[in-house]
Amino acid sequence: MPIKPTQATLHGYPRQGPNRELKKAVEGYWAGHITADELRATAAALRAATRQELRAAGIAEIPTGDFSLYDHVLDTAWMVGAVPKRHRGAAGTSLDTYFAMARGTAEAEPLEMTKWFNTNYHYLVPELSADTVFTADSRKPVEEFTEARQAGLNARPVLLGPISFLLLAKPAPGTDPGFAPLTLLDRLLPVYASVLADLRAAGAEWVQLDDPVLVQDQPGSVLGATARAYRELCAAAPRSDRPKLLVASYFDTLGEALPVLADSPVEGLALDFTGPAAANLDWLANIGGVRGKRLIAGVVDGRNVWAADLGHALGTLATLLGLAGSVDVAPSCSLLHVPLDVAAERDLDPQITRWLSFARQKTAEVTVLARALTGGRDAVAPQLAASRAARASRAGSALTRDPAVRARCAAVTASDARRPQPYPERAAAQRARLGLPPLPTTSIGSFPQTGELRQARAALRAGRISADAYRERIAEEIRTVIGCQEEAGLDVLVHGEPERNDMVQHFAERLSGFLATRHGWVQSYGTRYVRPPILAGDVSRTAPMTVEWTSFAQSLTDRPVKGMLTGPVTMLAWSFVRDDQPLADTARQVALALRDEVTDLEAAGTAVIQVDEPALRELLPLRRAAHPSYTRWATEAFRLTTGRVRADTQIHTHMCYAEFGEILSAIDDLDADVISLEAARSRMGIAAELAASGYPRAVGPGVYDIHSPRIPGVGELTALIEQALRALPSSRLWINPDCGLKTRTTDEVQAALRNMVTAARNVSGRLRDGA
Ligand code: GLN
Ligand code: ZN
Repeated sequence: MPIKPTQATLHGYPRQGPNRELKKAVEGYWAGHITADELRATAAALRAATRQELRAAGIAEIPTGDFSLYDHVLDTAWMVGAVPKRHRGAAGTSLDTYFAMARGTAEAEPLEMTKWFNTNYHYLVPELSADTVFTADSRKPVEEFTEARQAGLNARPVLLGPISFLLLAKPAPGTDPGFAPLTLLDRLLPVYASVLADLRAAGAEWVQLDDPVLVQDQPGSVLGATARAYRELCAAAPRSDRPKLLVASYFDTLGEALPVLADSPVEGLALDFTGPAAANLDWLANIGGVRGKRLIAGVVDGRNVWAADLGHALGTLATLLGLAGSVDVAPSCSLLHVPLDVAAERDLDPQITRWLSFARQKTAEVTVLARALTGGRDAVAPQLAASRAARASRAGSALTRDPAVRARCAAVTASDARRPQPYPERAAAQRARLGLPPLPTTSIGSFPQTGELRQARAALRAGRISADAYRERIAEEIRTVIGCQEEAGLDVLVHGEPERNDMVQHFAERLSGFLATRHGWVQSYGTRYVRPPILAGDVSRTAPMTVEWTSFAQSLTDRPVKGMLTGPVTMLAWSFVRDDQPLADTARQVALALRDEVTDLEAAGTAVIQVDEPALRELLPLRRAAHPSYTRWATEAFRLTTGRVRADTQIHTHMCYAEFGEILSAIDDLDADVISLEAARSRMGIAAELAASGYPRAVGPGVYDIHSPRIPGVGELTALIEQALRALPSSRLWINPDCGLKTRTTDEVQAALRNMVTAARNVSGRLRDGA
């Protein structure tokens, strides 16, 4: 086969438009302000603008079908007809049924939502059962491909692959929970074959099937199913009646799945060669390459914000040229995970913006790389020089390297990250200091973020109110929150976090080393977009961040008020992190900065300090082989944050998002005196699991499901507490909600907390009476 010249391509692009037009249109449709046709027209215009932009940038083959009104996994469920019964009848038009799956209706719960691998994007979890009947609906992929064709573009439809679709799904509620969706593969393949045939009929030469689940450790049964799936999809139609198939993976190395795909009859592979996925290069070399196939080489990190090292990427591409039939250049994954354009960040120092690369810049990077391969390095000499200069400027900058921070990190010893006293000794000292009743009650930190608070913040930003007026507003809120908790009868109070816009952003704005963007929105789910901070340089704390409000809250009450910090792992997980040093080193810097805050809180008289780590599970590497080293540095960072306190200072931590199984030993290694966990929906399952693992310290399994507006009654709260007591001794049980209360209303919170305290007192009274 003649070697085809290298081209630049992408796996996907941000969907929202330059000013989040898609969010506005979708929410406008939900609110009844625009019609379905108007929504479709806005969506089509956004796609058209993206296509023109990519064409102008020099992208030779444009992805289609990556666009979505809500989520691409939901689109896939729709494409194969996996629409739950409860949504079918729930709404009028098919568009409303689609949104009912995403958001629920008064009668029907939505699909569950969960993290897309280890990114901060959330997808909707398809529901399947033994009764699921798949039917093909190829309209969306065909229409979006046809639009691009009619615009005269060379396009490649991108679909979620069948193995990932099935493995990302879960058994439908009310069906056998042991049901394995992969058993539906034989029913699903003909539906995929039919969509592929429709795309071929519309003129698609290539279709990309994304199967990122293959970068996780998969049993032989899944690898076998993968081999069979692609063999059958290739055999489903004569070659002329189907498009060429290209299987894409990203976020980590394919490992043992690589030979499986290499041996399959698919005509192309897209592989990630960045970060941990760089190991794909060795795997590819070891199997002698894929000379009969097209390779799309992901050599530009598609999910981080740093300008690529073009020289290094060219080196990788040079190696790859000898290992595949043809090589095209792309980012490692869809650019969905990065903001749109660095050029919009006019507040950032231009010295710094040239270190950064968002979707538009990454698009330019892959076109430069493609030109270097076809025209030689000289063809892009200025770009290569600029890339080198930007990297040198970044490496040499004082933001990137703060000698004091580095010296402090280097001096850390194992004993810095260990509390000197064993838990029983600490627990006794804390009992003596705090004098809490049995089954102590507390909350997780935030109180309702009312509209007035958000307006006050916006008014402060816009200069409509003074800093003093804003502070008085916060102080007033704290007075209310303390009053509410005293009235409900809680034992350990919180100040309610009214001054925090977001638990990560609040600290990122106060620590040096972090950058904030003005327009750096990325899709979190549906129409929710977030602006993650950029952890760009060495991290340190210049002044106390939380002491003032915590002390103010403490001055209002005799009961202990918890200090409240976001932990180092969560700070990393919900930021863009630097790519020029190991994550472990960055975590240690953040931990030392937070350690200073813990020290100051303690010195100010704070007896209970909570360090939230809701993201501990999320950062777990996709490959099991990398778990031990991750849990080692992650738990060390937490202990470094909290390890210097006195025995009688009580350290709490908090985690949410149900699945703890894989990190039980890491949770133990945090050595926190008290951990609060989400547990209400699983009926205390996690409390039982933790206790069964021999966890020796205090636990507060959440009894109040804060995700629902329902106010739990005293009876059901009592039952949950009693259930928790079957797993944990009363001396180690705390009573608290599942998570922070910021999304609830003040009335709901007041009533629910009152009921929670009543239930706790009822149960502890019965324990005292020996009942
Ligand atoms: N302290 C935070 C709050 O109460 C914790 C939030 C979280 O776990 N995500 O809002
Ligand atoms: Zn939580």
